[in-house]
Amino acid sequence: MKKDWSKQTKLVHAGTRRSQYGEVSEAIFLTQGFVYDTAEAAEARFVKAQEDEFIYARYGNPTVRMFEDRIAALEGAEDAFATASGMAAVNAAMMSLLKAGDHVVSSRALFGSCLYILEEILPRFGVEVTFVDGGDLEQWKQAMRPETRAVFLESVSNPTLEMIDLKAVCDIAHGAGATVVVDNVFATPIYSYALKSGADLVVYSTTKHVDGQGRCLGGVILGSRDLIRKTVEPFLKHTGGAMSPFNAWVMLKSLETLDLRVRAQTATAMAVATALDGHPKLHRTLYPHLQSHPQYALAKAQMEQGGTVLAIDVKGGKDAAFKFLNALNIFIISNNFADAKSIVTHPATTTHQRLPDPQKDTLGITPGLIRVSLGLEDAGDLTHDILQALDAI
Ligand SMILES: *Cc1c(COP(=O)(O)O)cnc(C)c1O
Repeated sequence: MKKDWSKQTKLVHAGTRRSQYGEVSEAIFLTQGFVYDTAEAAEARFVKAQEDEFIYARYGNPTVRMFEDRIAALEGAEDAFATASGMAAVNAAMMSLLKAGDHVVSSRALFGSCLYILEEILPRFGVEVTFVDGGDLEQWKQAMRPETRAVFLESVSNPTLEMIDLKAVCDIAHGAGATVVVDNVFATPIYSYALKSGADLVVYSTTKHVDGQGRCLGGVILGSRDLIRKTVEPFLKHTGGAMSPFNAWVMLKSLETLDLRVRAQTATAMAVATALDGHPKLHRTLYPHLQSHPQYALAKAQMEQGGTVLAIDVKGGKDAAFKFLNALNIFIISNNFADAKSIVTHPATTTHQRLPDPQKDTLGITPGLIRVSLGLEDAGDLTHDILQALDAI
């Protein structure tokens, strides 16, 4: 791979490893293990495996490696480790960094399972976690302690699309000697600014935009070679969160079309958000690149585009929200997002159901809030579908 290749070229060619057959499409190496020519070769590989030498698929596999190299090239990261799911990636990133007695500072507005790891699991192992309002830099500063080892945040929060000033938070964290882990799903790998802003580890659920077609779970952790090989890899290779070679192959082929899909879905999201902004049946339309977004200036400065997801808050609470959801013809009701199929989710009763009401209020998860993920259908058809469903309320 040439370093000066643009994103689109890297997405098609970076990381390719051809076998002796010279195949055009990347091969699926659906193998757990690898054969050594001699006992000496086995011994040598266990002492130090070279670039194209593998030992066991829990540690690495040629198809998985192609995916890791290609997404690392896209992100501009030195290295990457692919995982079985996004949560395996979040868990491994945190667990590999932390030990009992450490302290973590995290933004409060998180994906439900990330919140579970930080609120329920880490404290069980003696790690204390302080939650802050991610938009309030003063709170980040106040929360840092000498034993703060890691900072965790979602660059754009789910489901209310709050933005965090990533560069400012990275500066505060690094000042305190903490490692910054960014869950970057909502920013998408196409519009990512995390490493440039100073993040140390960037995590994606590749279940979302990378697959983007509703098939496989997957995740990836990206960062410096040192952090990935010396901290993340030893944890993952012994605890078993590896991505399957089949899923890696699906993800690898998906990267070829990622830029086209994300750009098309983002253009649709912007068009639909613009059509809905100020609609009389809505309290608010939340989309980072709408001028009405509370952090519009930060969103414009930090994100090249607003992403593929928006949120609306319908007047009339849960009843109105359910009438709206049931009246849609193209959008499907599901809890995933970033799919080729447009998806609507009611977070208060599904993805964030577990949270007590006061916590939902703090996070802005109102009874009328609906997350809208824009797919690859026609933008006009989607806008029309939403407007007719709003009429049904
Ligand atoms: C979906 C998601 C995850 C979890 O990913 P899985 O692949 O479902 O395990 C983590 N963080 C964010 C922001 C997500 O959207």
